[in-house]
Amino acid sequence: MVHNVIIVGSGPAGYTAALYNARANLDPLLFAGIQPGGQLMITTDVENYPGFPDGIMGPEMMELFRKQIERFGTQIKDHTITKVDLSQRPFKLWADDEMFEAKSVIIATGATAKWIGLPSEVTFGGFGVSACATCDGFFFRGKNVIVVGGGDTAMEEANYLTKHANKVYLVHRRDSFRASKIMVDRVMNNPKVELITNTVLEEITGQTDPVKKVTGVRMLNVSTEKTSTMDIDGVFVAIGHKPNSDIFKGWLDMDDVGYIKVQANSTRTNIPGVFAAGDVADAVYRQAVTAAGTGCMAAIDAERFLEAEGH
Ligand code: NAP
Repeated sequence: MVHNVIIVGSGPAGYTAALYNARANLDPLLFAGIQPGGQLMITTDVENYPGFPDGIMGPEMMELFRKQIERFGTQIKDHTITKVDLSQRPFKLWADDEMFEAKSVIIATGATAKWIGLPSEVTFGGFGVSACATCDGFFFRGKNVIVVGGGDTAMEEANYLTKHANKVYLVHRRDSFRASKIMVDRVMNNPKVELITNTVLEEITGQTDPVKKVTGVRMLNVSTEKTSTMDIDGVFVAIGHKPNSDIFKGWLDMDDVGYIKVQANSTRTNIPGVFAAGDVADAVYRQAVTAAGTGCMAAIDAERFLEAEGH
């Protein structure tokens, strides 16, 4: 069976594309991945999505998105697409060993948290090192933790962690912040957060016996070039994201970082019939609402493409 449209990804972009394509009777098939919902599943309060005056928790919002597309009969598979062949139509996509064919494809695979690159991040990943305060903050009740980064994510995580932790140190490599002023102000006014600027983590230290856990960090002050150590129970890395575009490398035009290039005012990629929406194609805005907006654009672009092709 050749599907009209296969949507890859289950964040705001993928779900919105599915909503529009389902309501246009295109019977879309959506691959949600093994952890459906995208980055909002690891976000706390979403206060900037229009229509939720009191804010909403990220996971709850994604549950609502999913319910809405299910109502219009989208087929959802909680599998990950691992390989594609976009050389000719119908396009081919593989979820493990199973192959699926589609007349058009909407890529909405989003982006993933970046890591500093310390071997100790891997050693202690899940044992005191995390990239998700919402997922793991609970384990640090009454403890002292570090958040690394100077963007909105770092501010958000630092604030959130004060709900659980005794003390949160925000470690940033510069002395000015990329984060929006309102987020920085909130952190600065939070008595449980202490800022450590011009500083990078050189090592995360810990024990592996009798239980694996983080016990401290070694830091370098980049202006004074002095090294220091500090006892700490957990490290939350919040230094940005990488687009999830690896399986499309070689097929689609991308920038140096891996963001899929789309044509101006559209979601069209360099391959007719293949569209990209949301964070995987957006290095600039990266918001839930812009992802949903481009998901809608991709659905309309795909519908018009199919119509023009006589489907
Ligand atoms: P970001 O804006 O790219 O910020 C990443 C931060 O991590 C920067 O401060 C950067 O430092 C630092 N960093 C990067 N690589 C590093 C490394 N190897 N070692 C140490 N520090 C490193 O990423 P983000 O905070 O995840 O935000 C992404 C987008 O989502 C933004 O557009 C943001 O506004 C949005 N967002 C919005 C909200 C909200 O409004 N509620 C919440 C979260 C995210 P430099 O500044 O020195 O480069």
